Amino acid sequence: MKNVVSDFPPSEAGKAGSAGTLYVVATPIGNLDDLSPRATRTLAAVDVVAAEDTRHSGRLLSHLGIQKRLIALHDHNEKDRAAGLLAELEAGRDVALISDAGTPLISDPGYVLVRDARAAGFVVSPIPGPCALVAALSAAGLPTDRFLYVGFLPAKRSGRRASLEALSNETATLVFYESPHRILESVRDANEVLGSDREMVLGREITKTFETFYSGSAAEVLAELERDPHGSRGEFVVMIRGAVAQAGDSEAAAMDVDRVLRVLLAELPVKKVAKMASELTGLSKNELYQRALALKDG
Ligand code: SAM
Repeated sequence: MKNVVSDFPPSEAGKAGSAGTLYVVATPIGNLDDLSPRATRTLAAVDVVAAEDTRHSGRLLSHLGIQKRLIALHDHNEKDRAAGLLAELEAGRDVALISDAGTPLISDPGYVLVRDARAAGFVVSPIPGPCALVAALSAAGLPTDRFLYVGFLPAKRSGRRASLEALSNETATLVFYESPHRILESVRDANEVLGSDREMVLGREITKTFETFYSGSAAEVLAELERDPHGSRGEFVVMIRGAVAQAGDSEAAAMDVDRVLRVLLAELPVKKVAKMASELTGLSKNELYQRALALKDG
């Protein structure tokens, strides 16, 4: 594997123009040592830092010995502020987007700015780093080949239970963020709606002094949380093993694939059918080709 150590600014095809670049910079989720050297260099080199909470990020920057013009960009002003930040880029100034912790846009502001910056043709470049859900999954021991990040569950019990209900047949590992004052209620609801024997892992205070992983069945995790006097303090990532695929799911999926193939076969040659069906279903083109041939031959 080739390792590339780039100096700031990271090279990017579109960098030749005179417009500024928007850097989306991940910051620590608890342990300041997790800030990458490249993130530090980027924050030191840009002209403007757009931050969710300027006081919070001001402390991070002063810890790094960096003084910057800070612009607040949060959920309530993002539409207005995005326009001003695009004007900065247009004027050739580089902008770094950071949030209070972790990766911007992951349950954090920044989507409108990044979308608009891309639409306007500016270079948007990620400076990757900490993200609570990735850190949690990497240490949980649950399947990670497919996972569904759901963000925060609704605050109200009825909405939360309805969301869990809607996810009850999902076979991918489920990942939620949860606040300390709702963690117990959410884990209780998950027990009741998804079943107390579902495997669950909670990552609490990841990368911080009191980092703890609770794992076991949903019932065991709830009991552990209730037993631990500090159990519901701190920040949490909730991970739940996906539902066991029901017998019949794969037959239903196979029937759907056959339907797609038949519809396409009515109009197109087999090779084209296999290509299009592969794009539609994500299944192997070769297998679909064989299946389409079989269907065509009756
Ligand atoms: N952008 C962040 C990221 O990349 O992970 C997430 C921001 S979201 C507003 C904050 C939530 O992330 C917290 O309520 C908690 O669920 C989760 N979180 C953040 N830091 C965490 C940590 N150190 N340990 C566990 N969960 C954490």
